[in-house]
Amino acid sequence: MLSLFSFRKAPLSKYSINDYRQLRNKPTTMFSRRKFLSNSTLASLTVLFGASQTSCAQSDDEKVQNLSSNGSNKPLVISTWNHGIAANVAAWEILENGGSALDAVEKGVRVTEGDPKISSVGYGGTPDRDGAVTLDACIMDSMGNCGSVCFLEHIKHPISVARKVMEETPHVILAGEGALQFALSQGFEKEDLLTESSKKAWEKWTEKKNYAPIINVENHDTIGMLAMDENNNISGACTTSGLGYKMKGRVGDSPIIGAGLFVDNEVGGAVATGLGEAVLKSVGSFLIVELMRNGMTPQEACDEAINRIIKKQGYKDFQIGYLAINKNGEVGASSIHKGFNYALHTRDENRLIDSKYLATD
Ligand code: ASP
Repeated sequence: MLSLFSFRKAPLSKYSINDYRQLRNKPTTMFSRRKFLSNSTLASLTVLFGASQTSCAQSDDEKVQNLSSNGSNKPLVISTWNHGIAANVAAWEILENGGSALDAVEKGVRVTEGDPKISSVGYGGTPDRDGAVTLDACIMDSMGNCGSVCFLEHIKHPISVARKVMEETPHVILAGEGALQFALSQGFEKEDLLTESSKKAWEKWTEKKNYAPIINVENHDTIGMLAMDENNNISGACTTSGLGYKMKGRVGDSPIIGAGLFVDNEVGGAVATGLGEAVLKSVGSFLIVELMRNGMTPQEACDEAINRIIKKQGYKDFQIGYLAINKNGEVGASSIHKGFNYALHTRDENRLIDSKYLATD
């Protein structure tokens, strides 16, 4: 969503092509000159549940490994940004009653989708440059099933349409008009998703068409959620209105399995938020799960995925945040810049945690 970007120039008529060109042209060699934070000094890196609140040091990581392998760290649910707190509460109601991770993540992110005050997801989401709210969402279960909708208009809960795609069709992704038709055929109601305040903001934006959002300034973007239920099954969901004032037809990472979300129940799951184009180019969530499969902790895997983006795509003008969990209930979070946070709900508490970040300038 718009708050994650900081484009120095704000092209008007040629907006998006130039915006993305700026990102593409970032020299990758800059990386070597950057200072990166060490694990031990930054707040909130690996959070293990049942362990102390936030810890950065490797030794804490090891402690968590030990704690978490006793199988006591479930159920749990983790989700992106401040709005994750309310979403986690809804997901927890399912999990604490022995419900499935799949039901939990759908119910959880529906809270965010339905909140008109959240201008980056669902109802009240920031529109594209033509004033249309177009939504992207996907869901993935512990069996490896998945469903997705992209460029969907007029439906308040795209995550539930994505679940229907998964369960009721032979396909994985439905887009645009086809996704809308399918949603209507499944009984979803057609609604106007542009609220008065998002309409006003868009109208103001059209005065200058200045595409210059600022990194993290609004602190609410895509909601990505991962849950592990009592049966140790993992599912995930991801839903967004995408970049504010994006080009008509633009689809980001959030509805793309492997980019915005990936779950492999043998290993763990990962979700992304931030500049979707950068996540798509690196197939971020799939990468994180594969790194965990090969032995990395969730924290190490998230860090590696962020570092790959920094090295290959630059980092100055955009933000990416990743969350991951593994089968032991260990959690990782990493971002490029300061400002990304997430909500973690365990048996003990539901709390916001600042993510580790890797760029210091
Ligand atoms: N990843 C989303 C997208 O690119 C934006 C976000 O996370 O706010 O559409």
